[in-house]
Amino acid sequence: MRGLMQDWPMLVHRLIDHAALYHQGASIVSRTVEGDMHRTGYAEIRARARKLSRALTKRGIRPGDRVATLAWNTYRHVECWYGIAGMGAVYHTLNPRLFADQIAWITNHGGARALFYDNCFAPIVEAIAPKLRHVEFFVALGDEIAPIKLRKKPLVYEKLIAGPSSGNKGDFDWPALDENSACGLCYTSGTTGDPKGVLYSHRSNILTALLAGQSPGLHMGPMDRMLPVVPMFHANGWAIPFLTALSGASLVMPGPRLDGASIYQLLEEERVTITAAVPTVWMNLLQYLEDNRLKLSHLKRVCIGGAAAPRALVEQFEDKFGVEVIHAWGMTEMSPIGTMSAIKPPLDVLPRARQLDIKAKQGYPHFGIEMKITDDKGHARPRDGKAFGRLKVKGPNIARAYFKGAGREAFGKDGWFDTGDVATLDEYGYMQITDRSKDVIKSGGEWISTIEIENLAVGHPDVAEAAVIGIPHPKWNERPLLIVVPRPGTAPNVEALLAHLRGRIAKWWLPDAVVFVDDIPHTATGKILKTELRRRFVDFKFTS
Ligand code: AMP
Repeated sequence: MRGLMQDWPMLVHRLIDHAALYHQGASIVSRTVEGDMHRTGYAEIRARARKLSRALTKRGIRPGDRVATLAWNTYRHVECWYGIAGMGAVYHTLNPRLFADQIAWITNHGGARALFYDNCFAPIVEAIAPKLRHVEFFVALGDEIAPIKLRKKPLVYEKLIAGPSSGNKGDFDWPALDENSACGLCYTSGTTGDPKGVLYSHRSNILTALLAGQSPGLHMGPMDRMLPVVPMFHANGWAIPFLTALSGASLVMPGPRLDGASIYQLLEEERVTITAAVPTVWMNLLQYLEDNRLKLSHLKRVCIGGAAAPRALVEQFEDKFGVEVIHAWGMTEMSPIGTMSAIKPPLDVLPRARQLDIKAKQGYPHFGIEMKITDDKGHARPRDGKAFGRLKVKGPNIARAYFKGAGREAFGKDGWFDTGDVATLDEYGYMQITDRSKDVIKSGGEWISTIEIENLAVGHPDVAEAAVIGIPHPKWNERPLLIVVPRPGTAPNVEALLAHLRGRIAKWWLPDAVVFVDDIPHTATGKILKTELRRRFVDFKFTS
């Protein structure tokens, strides 16, 4: 017998319909690419998104077509997501931090028929345009076009969406779509091999907003003001444009300026209550606060993910600035949120130092994410907080294949997706990433977690950033090398750093050498670029 409830497809534009009708008081504030501040609300975003849907339809874009965006976080980018998805097409984000050739490759692989870009990215568009095989027209996201040499003049966004509208309702009716229709396309970072496309559906995006929005980390309400520093072009923008519309929270968009001073200004002037970004953004902000002896007046929660948040970072935010840290883990393939680290009973009675240890873990999953760790043969490993294993996940918001069938080996026949991460799971369900499987150090047949050593090293007051890589060793196969960027104005010595690690990690995990460098390379999404570090230290030899 089937239930007698209505069939109400879960479509992302229903989020903006809801927010426009019930959250008129919420503001969408953007620092624009031109530099000024812009203020709008959900009703206006919806009206303009519908005009965009109409314009795209008129220009021959059909449901299922990909429309690329190369843009910072601003209200126009949000309008693009809703306007593109709302008419049944697929937003296809491009990361401007990648090399031009990679951007061109991704745009071609995704098959985008149109490309919307911020005027500041005109040089990138100019460089990739001759290589693009499917793009029929370009749209400059503004009311004018920055100088650009293209065979066909780009359209101007504000002109494209101009035209009659019946008040806030707009003049385009969203079509009825199947909730399983494709909605968004984002590519993984691809530090090894080609990037892979993850194709979200309307349903998976709504479920992400509903389910991840229930977790203590991203839980928001109409009184919240969310600043997503994490760009919309990284991992489905952590679903934040959907989460805010669903919850009625205001949205503060940082545009292109993501440095400590600019972020601090927005946090204070726009009374931001919750924010999200990768650890490096927060390290820069804390340095800025320290240098200028500043406080955070409104911020309540900071969500840190995309790479491991060192314990010292958690401690500084919480104990010095009174801001709760939510450490989050996820992947582009997971829409992207997988786990969040918040304290739950019975751990709430633990001493502070133990609670900090738990918060430095990546956390436990919300409903809708199944998780296990296995050995190389696929046998489940114990959930004891000690055993390492390959982290595998299952759920309605997790990819079951990559776009155009790439990377099949990650998708098991049993329906589990192999994340490529190595992790422990403890008895309370907290997961801790110890490494990417490609980065873990295999020493004498045992595994050493590079992330754990890095996080401890960053806890030393003279260390700005740290990375650990495996160096080939004749006896042990591989041994750890600690690479350190000293904090400005300090001159840490090797013995002091090793002394700081001693007693905190197993003896045999202690790095065999420490080197000091001026910088550590990062990927376009803020992770330590270990492939490049291994290349730089390819000739490194331990002296003893
Ligand atoms: P991306 O799809 O670019 O977000 O990359 C996903 C990968 O980033 C994951 O598989 C992890 O290796 C890494 N990652 C994301 N969040 C964290 C975290 N909190 N701690 C450690 N690694 C993380």
